[in-house]
Amino acid sequence: MSCIFCKIRDGEIPSYKIYEDDKVLAFLDITQATKGHTLIIPKRHVKNVFDLPEDVAADLFRRIPKIANALKNTFNPIGLNIINNNDKPLQSVFHYHVHLVPRYEKDEMVISFPNHMKDYDEKDYQALVNQVKINI
Ligand code: 5GP
Ligand code: ZN
Repeated sequence: MSCIFCKIRDGEIPSYKIYEDDKVLAFLDITQATKGHTLIIPKRHVKNVFDLPEDVAADLFRRIPKIANALKNTFNPIGLNIINNNDKPLQSVFHYHVHLVPRYEKDEMVISFPNHMKDYDEKDYQALVNQVKINI
């Protein structure tokens, strides 16, 4: 398999590993969008959230607070974003991963949520809920 994160997991290509156990691996993102930018992956190859089995998700997410606190206590950021991209064109590596991005006063990260509240009334919100509920 040509998955770059499987190769990192298997030690076939080098990485800066900060945590590893039988279920997950956490290592520095090569780009260091901010100081300490870390990826956590399940050891099992899963493409993205749409394929993620519940037990793999549980194993991964239960370890995130430990890694987040290590980053917080090490780098003393003002906060930390958790980001996960799924499917093209958002996702560039197709082995599920969660970005932990410590944030600093003057970093270059821009994450902003547009506010479209003015476009929605009670009926509009409820219509969205009804649509999604059909698919759960
Ligand atoms: P995505 O866009 O799929 O959410 O993020 C993929 C991430 O993997 C990018 O932030 C990119 O910098 C990182 N990445 C890609 N190749 C490598 C690599 O070989 N080593 C490490 N440590 N990170 C990588
Ligand atoms: Zn993989």
